[in-house]
Amino acid sequence: MDLQTFCQELPKLELHAHLNGSLSRSTMTFIKRFLALTGMADESDVFLDEFQVGPSDTKNLSESARERGLICCFIISINRNSSKEDADVIVDHAIEYHTKYPDIVVGVELSGNPAVGMFQDFVPALDKARKAGLKITLHCGEICNTQEVIEMINFKPERIGHGIYIHPKFGGNDTTWDLLRNSRIPVEICLTSNVNTKSTPDFNSHHFKEFYNANIPVVLCTDDKGVFSTSLSQEYHICGETYGIEQSKLARLSLKACNYIFAEDVRKILTEKILNFINKNEL
Ligand SMILES: [Zn+2]
Repeated sequence: MDLQTFCQELPKLELHAHLNGSLSRSTMTFIKRFLALTGMADESDVFLDEFQVGPSDTKNLSESARERGLICCFIISINRNSSKEDADVIVDHAIEYHTKYPDIVVGVELSGNPAVGMFQDFVPALDKARKAGLKITLHCGEICNTQEVIEMINFKPERIGHGIYIHPKFGGNDTTWDLLRNSRIPVEICLTSNVNTKSTPDFNSHHFKEFYNANIPVVLCTDDKGVFSTSLSQEYHICGETYGIEQSKLARLSLKACNYIFAEDVRKILTEKILNFINKNEL
């Protein structure tokens, strides 16, 4: 099977996709036309600024995704430019909906401009979320800030996003690298996103290979597939082509990602699905 077909057919798990960044261009165009046709916006000046989804919409969105064969769960975001008070309110909403729909609202994450805000300010809110049973993922090491990387890893989130400035070759140091290696925290790797935002100059210079060779648990993700015009299949394709990772190993990468999902109730279904693919294709 050629690599492109293989990456499309391989069952995959997306663990790091911002909803507002995942709208495709065709969906954006559809919404733009819809707003104009319904008179919700002036046709001469139609644009979409922000796409907001309230916690109450999460159940409907998840159910409609399942009808299309996609298991869809939600991680509620705290933006780093939020105040401590706002973070607390967001976590209260997350807990409320996690209590109502524990298999749909599964976690809380911290993201946004990495140069804004202090991680320590969000620890009380994140602690509260964790105590209520929500899993935590943190955008970590997006800029050079070794102190914050140390604080985040010591917080022991269930996953971290990106993890660029951690290895000494990529702006981290021995302490941050040893901490990550010993922690066994899975890292959500977003190849196209990191190249497009110039966090890394090109795919060949990306920290993925360093992490993969060091046996750091990694999972390939898109981050913002609409904004960056990518897909999870394309991310696997880039990974296979750039780093020479053969199809059987790409399939194992997808299989291992099952261990890192927050929605534990669907782990068995997904694992079986990927194992069936591996056996069917004798990988
Ligand atoms: Zn992200």
